[in-house]
Amino acid sequence: MAGHIPEEKVDEIRQSTDIVDIIGDYVELKKQGRNYFGLCPFHGESTPSFSVSADKQIFHCFGCGKGGNVYTFLMEMEGFNFIQAIKQLAGQAQIDLPEEASQEDSSQISTESQSILEAHQWLAKLYHHMLLNSKEGQDAYQYLIDRGFSEETIKKYQIGYSPNSKEFVVTFLEKKGFHPQTMVKAGLLNANDQGEYADRFRGRLIFPLRNHLGKTVAFAGRSLGHQEPKYLNSPETELFQKNRLLYNFDLARAAIRKQKSVILFEGYVDVISADQAGVHNVVGTMGTSISSSQANLLKRYVDQVIICYDGDQPGVEAAVKAGRLLKNTGCQTFVARVPDGLDPDDFIQKHGGDRFKKEVLDTSDTFIAFIMSYLRRDYNLQLEGDRIAYIEKILQEVALLDRAVEREHYLNELASEFQMSVDTLKEEVHHIRGKNTVKQDNKDQNRYTNRTSQYSIQNKLLPAFHNAERKLIAYMLRDPFIAEKVQEELGGAFNISDHQVIVTYLYAYYEDGNQSDVSQFVEKLDDPALKNLVIELAMAPVSEEVSDQEIHDYIFRIKAEHSDRTDIKTLEDDLKRAEQQNEPIKAAEIAMKIIERKKELKNT
Ligand SMILES: [Zn+2]
Repeated sequence: MAGHIPEEKVDEIRQSTDIVDIIGDYVELKKQGRNYFGLCPFHGESTPSFSVSADKQIFHCFGCGKGGNVYTFLMEMEGFNFIQAIKQLAGQAQIDLPEEASQEDSSQISTESQSILEAHQWLAKLYHHMLLNSKEGQDAYQYLIDRGFSEETIKKYQIGYSPNSKEFVVTFLEKKGFHPQTMVKAGLLNANDQGEYADRFRGRLIFPLRNHLGKTVAFAGRSLGHQEPKYLNSPETELFQKNRLLYNFDLARAAIRKQKSVILFEGYVDVISADQAGVHNVVGTMGTSISSSQANLLKRYVDQVIICYDGDQPGVEAAVKAGRLLKNTGCQTFVARVPDGLDPDDFIQKHGGDRFKKEVLDTSDTFIAFIMSYLRRDYNLQLEGDRIAYIEKILQEVALLDRAVEREHYLNELASEFQMSVDTLKEEVHHIRGKNTVKQDNKDQNRYTNRTSQYSIQNKLLPAFHNAERKLIAYMLRDPFIAEKVQEELGGAFNISDHQVIVTYLYAYYEDGNQSDVSQFVEKLDDPALKNLVIELAMAPVSEEVSDQEIHDYIFRIKAEHSDRTDIKTLEDDLKRAEQQNEPIKAAEIAMKIIERKKELKNT
């Protein structure tokens, strides 16, 4: 079913991606027990019933029933076909696809963007090569080493150098078949009135800017001498939007998820510097502040964000802005302050990573504490008017805090500093919060409630044998030994026809030497309804340990139903015969028996 892409490739790509990462880009997921939960992107809901299993690499919505593996998700979400979904993931996992597959149907972006994207990949390699291997690149390389970049870091971030020649890159791009006008649009080349082209980044150090899929979509060029401007970035294109790109997100993603916290810098140099110093959960914005789309992206991954901007005035202003935005998305926000007006990179270069961690990151202020000292500078607290205005401002901020303990803490602080009654301050905050309740209520709807326990594979509305089959298949999906046992004792004698089909595929799947892997197994099923059913069964909670007795009971129940059904089938055949032979009394007797048998069946 993979078209031109061999099955092993499909598996390889699937195994090298984490479904939690992929879905996390679209759905805000919260870990709860073994699974992740979020609001289903496929149907409107206010309490999360959409769950993702990292162990099984599948997702399932208990609300609308949609489910599948990572490919199914991308197909549903992006409207991709199977090949497009594979291509997308292969690109992310940096796995090469067979030539014909990668040429098949164009992807979502325009041909022009496709070409710009390709040019960036080529140029990133070229620039990096020139830095490491060319004579022209030597000074640039030395500059980086002097600035404290290690060779390993230079390679990791593919830092490059563009030779100080107008034609070098122009010729290179021409040879590769790129249209110069498109390259001008991409900000890679400049054109003059005479229609001559020149490398826009010539003579500069080059920092490739990668999107969250790890593709270079723009460059930041830094001049080495007196070249102006000092910093030159690519213009915005369809591929590169400053307020959407978070620098280093692709490389930091795993560390961010692991540490459940992210450190946010203003620039790429701070990010690289911190990463080199051993702090890996780091990303950077491309301007001075953060946009709401970047804040939302982070919120999908973490609860805690530490803003670490420059220690100078513009840096502090930007931190206030970023902090408010992040607080609004519901992140726990902290602000790290770099002493002496230094920027984070300077501090790390001067004092090293350990001191950066201990003295800057670990001593971060909560956002409110940061705001308190920030606002203080605008007021002369010796003057009563200023004092009141200041307190008003702080109360507004305190009122925004979710936790009562936290509010209490700051109110006590304020009260003792300004010799006021805590009760008065509390009342004021209470009043402000009252105005905000509508907003709060909306927020509360997004709180995650413990839904897992509500779902049980035992559906009371289904007859016992049906539940037995579902449970048994759930265990068989998890454990090849149970599947083998069932195969011996029961074979294909399931009563529900969908179940018969599933177990037939499952037996074959294990006989091929595969291990338990639902995400891979569903690829073998062509029917989407069957896929969904398998996913549903795999996601239903079953106990870790299952006794032989339990398995035996299920098998027994299924067999009993099967023989009852066989009995009824025989009786029905008898009835038909009696009618054909015109024996009404015999037919009536048989009909009675059938009704009785069916009644019995219902009660089991
Ligand atoms: Zn749903």
